[in-house]
Amino acid sequence: MARYTGPVCRLCRREGLKLFLKGARCNSEKCSFGKRSYSPGQHGKSRSKVSDYGLQLREKQKVKRIYGVLERQFRRYFHAAAQTKGITGEVLLQLLERRLDNVVYRSGFAVSPAQARQLVRYGHVKVNGRKVNIPSFLVSVEDTVQMREGEKLAKQIRENLEMTKDRKIPSWLKVEATKLEARMSALPRRDEVLFPVQEQLIVELYSK
Ligand code: SF4
Repeated sequence: MARYTGPVCRLCRREGLKLFLKGARCNSEKCSFGKRSYSPGQHGKSRSKVSDYGLQLREKQKVKRIYGVLERQFRRYFHAAAQTKGITGEVLLQLLERRLDNVVYRSGFAVSPAQARQLVRYGHVKVNGRKVNIPSFLVSVEDTVQMREGEKLAKQIRENLEMTKDRKIPSWLKVEATKLEARMSALPRRDEVLFPVQEQLIVELYSK
């Protein structure tokens, strides 16, 4: 399963936005976005006018980075969204929000998207009582996502929940912290996506 393995703070600087990819560090003074909020690279400070195409491309890159998805998989999400009834851009975001690693992250069980992905891949997550170790697994309405038993794991997840308690849990997820589980009560809502995204630009990009 391919994933980005390069420096992540660079991604925030490139997108000009804190993507909170590193857990606790993101809210500390160590966050490099606070120190250098300009784009990385030799000409990072001097980049100026961006074309329409450039804007569309940037928006796509940003969304890919938020959800930790690489190009080929992202394209598949887009095609699936385009074939689904509804507004393509919104369906695309809905599909990405429904990814199991994202559900684990947004429930507060993990401090960063990378940790959420790792919890899934290491087999620490169950969906409706069955182990699922595929981060891209799509959670459906009424599915229950639960952390597996084990004292050590439970302790870590409780610590994570404490660390993420200020993060807003979306209304479509009902988290039961004592049981370490979350139920998807409805489809993800567009207005509860964590970051500012102009999905229409991505639709325009792929519609060329
Ligand atoms: Fe982004 Fe977090 Fe790195 Fe700050 S510490 S630049 S928010 S990944």
